[in-house]
Amino acid sequence: MLLQVHNLRKTFPIRGGLLGKKTGEITAVDDVSFYVKKGETLGLVGESGCGKSTTGRAILRLHEPTSGQIEFEGKSLLALSEEEMRKARRDLQMVFQDPFASLNPRQKVMDILEEPLIVHGMGNGKERKEQVQELLHLVGLNQSHAMRYPHQFSGGQRQRIGIARALSTKPKLIVADEPVSALDVSIQSQVLNLMADLQEKFELTYLFIAHDLSVVKHISDRVGVMYLGRLVELADRDELYERPLHPYTQALLSAVPVPDPDFQKQRIILSGDVPSPANPPKGCAFHPRCPHVMDICKEVRPEFADQGGGHFSACHL
Ligand code: SF4
Repeated sequence: MLLQVHNLRKTFPIRGGLLGKKTGEITAVDDVSFYVKKGETLGLVGESGCGKSTTGRAILRLHEPTSGQIEFEGKSLLALSEEEMRKARRDLQMVFQDPFASLNPRQKVMDILEEPLIVHGMGNGKERKEQVQELLHLVGLNQSHAMRYPHQFSGGQRQRIGIARALSTKPKLIVADEPVSALDVSIQSQVLNLMADLQEKFELTYLFIAHDLSVVKHISDRVGVMYLGRLVELADRDELYERPLHPYTQALLSAVPVPDPDFQKQRIILSGDVPSPANPPKGCAFHPRCPHVMDICKEVRPEFADQGGGHFSACHL
């Protein structure tokens, strides 16, 4: 197992008043557990604010977890000092949603791609320059792009630079946080295909975060669905898409367009908005919006349990 996450929890304080005193707490990630095997892609899906991005960042300790355990290659990441964690990030890289915001606008692409190599003491000047050229080639860019600035590229090209930067240290795990959400639909599939090719070539492992089940379908081996900070369902890709057990997953899937015009799908429209994570509903957090809600759902939180064959779901049904 490459990555194991146990009972991960991340809270953020709510501060108010002149002195900025803590007035409450938001639980962004609540008791989340999963694993990712070497070479596989685990898709993590949910509406905005469900905690999926915070989960990805907490794994890299870009947000320090409040509690829980994160094991990477059998070693606890939370036991590492800051300096040890900085070194460990060579193996754990991240691709961000907005490549424009995540690339320094004053750095040329050459410097952007060389920086992680310098930070991790990889190669001499000449070797690093050669590696930057190779990285550009791998992501479908060319040598001349090295001397340009991020604003001189299209959104799709900038994400290719973001991917090249993540690849530069030859990582084992890449946390991709909505890497195609900001791109035009026509460009999305090019970037997804590139990521799939690179995965095969370098035996990469992905935690692929998206808000849309259609985006993660082709690239994922297994898919987890999050709602209000918790995992509500997790299963093999085909199993989840063909036999979703949780009413929230069923609603998300009903919104995924199908290419066959003769096939009419019954869209499940969820009423209401996602409740505030500062004040989550009692019992099952999905109960105020669930079309199948029962009395027990309003009182007792359903356990996230294996319903058979590694298909996990948190529902009283
Ligand atoms: Fe719906 Fe109840 Fe299942 Fe929650 S536990 S998803 S409210 S049926």
